[in-house]
Amino acid sequence: RLRVRFAPSPTGYLHIGGARTALFNYLLARREKGVFVLRIEDTDVARSTQESVDAILQAMDWLGMHCDEGPVYQSDRFDLYRAKIDQLLTEGKAYRCYCSADDLERKREDALKEGRKPKYDGTCREGQQGTAEDRPFVVRFKAPQEGETTFVDRIKGSITFQNDELDDLIIQRTDGTPTYNFVVVVDDAEMGINLVLRGDDHINNTPRQIMLYEALGYPVPDFAHVPMILGADKSRLSKRHGATSVMAYKEMGYLPEALVNYLVRLGWSHGDQEIFSMDELIQLFNLENIGKSASVFNPEKLLWLNSHYIKTGDPERLADLLREHLAFEGIAVGEDRPLTSIVTALQDRSKTLIEMARQAVCFLVDEVTFDEAAVAKFLGEESRLPLKGLLNDLETCSDWREEALDPVFKKVLESQGLKFAKLAQPARVALTGSTNGPGICQIMQILGKEKTLDRLRNVLS
Ligand code: GLU
Repeated sequence: RLRVRFAPSPTGYLHIGGARTALFNYLLARREKGVFVLRIEDTDVARSTQESVDAILQAMDWLGMHCDEGPVYQSDRFDLYRAKIDQLLTEGKAYRCYCSADDLERKREDALKEGRKPKYDGTCREGQQGTAEDRPFVVRFKAPQEGETTFVDRIKGSITFQNDELDDLIIQRTDGTPTYNFVVVVDDAEMGINLVLRGDDHINNTPRQIMLYEALGYPVPDFAHVPMILGADKSRLSKRHGATSVMAYKEMGYLPEALVNYLVRLGWSHGDQEIFSMDELIQLFNLENIGKSASVFNPEKLLWLNSHYIKTGDPERLADLLREHLAFEGIAVGEDRPLTSIVTALQDRSKTLIEMARQAVCFLVDEVTFDEAAVAKFLGEESRLPLKGLLNDLETCSDWREEALDPVFKKVLESQGLKFAKLAQPARVALTGSTNGPGICQIMQILGKEKTLDRLRNVLS
């Protein structure tokens, strides 16, 4: 049974790249009816925060990626790591290294000067096992120096590293804490992870980790390294290219399904299909269709997907989300005020929930905020007669649905011999404060009779 994991280090928010790695693991687990484990890699106690753990969990929850096991915290497992390090020390597969940081730095500089690749010179490698001195030490793994380490990456194919290029890795720091490459192996093995799917920034760690699996007597899992995400300028994706935090997209009015759909296409494809629901992805996602080259982050495409999901979304649900965004903008709308008709009118005209919220405001406030330019252009003297005519005919209307208002509006146009825009634009400005917005009769329906008449009277007074 497939067991995969997502293993974030809680030193910040959930990044777009991390979210994609999590999503790929999640989808594969769902598709193969496997298990998706969430492991919090917080052995770096100084840099890990609970706040960051919460932010990561919240973002995963928002995207709908629920784990089957976890979160498991590495900080709860120090005893296990200690036992495994002791095991390697006892078996002579690791050793205490007393070389000082200064010495190592000096040797490193010498190597660089002489054009050699810096590498631990093995001073403490032989002969010192068990002789615990009263000095600070790190524990190093005695890495095999001969031969090569090969693995078949499920995305990139066969990859070989020469063992003499690999250092004697530090597996325990002077403060007694174990290092990433060591704990990741112990955990993946102890948790029965049989496919490690992660970003290819970890590919150089893989041969070292394979050596550790072998030294600890664990079976080696499969590996799949996903190519990086780059910005438009082909450098690694960073803040310069736009928001990189998943939750920033929620705040900017994106829907989780848009982000999921966007993320999955960063590196994976299924023919030329662009729109995928989560259920569809669970049916279709596979390792075979993950590309070998890096993907470029494209904010316009994400925005396009978002407008697609807003256009086609369920109005009831969007209404709830809109309410949240309005609250965020300081406009509290009670649960008793239904927003679905506003949503329906604005779905085609909003690429984000923020855009929708901005356009919704004029329907919800007591007093219209007028766009000065629109007032100057459309609410001059010549608009009074048309607007008066409209007000007159509307006063006697009882059916306030868009379909019923439409003929009333047309009748006013006819009787005054006006072109559509000559009445529609002034009315729109009178009712909403600006010239953008949905159809004029839709606006009137959303406002309701009382507000519509009030606002017309207001500009005529
Ligand atoms: N904690 C590591 C990271 O966030 C996990 C790497 C891995 O998946 O092995 O990069």
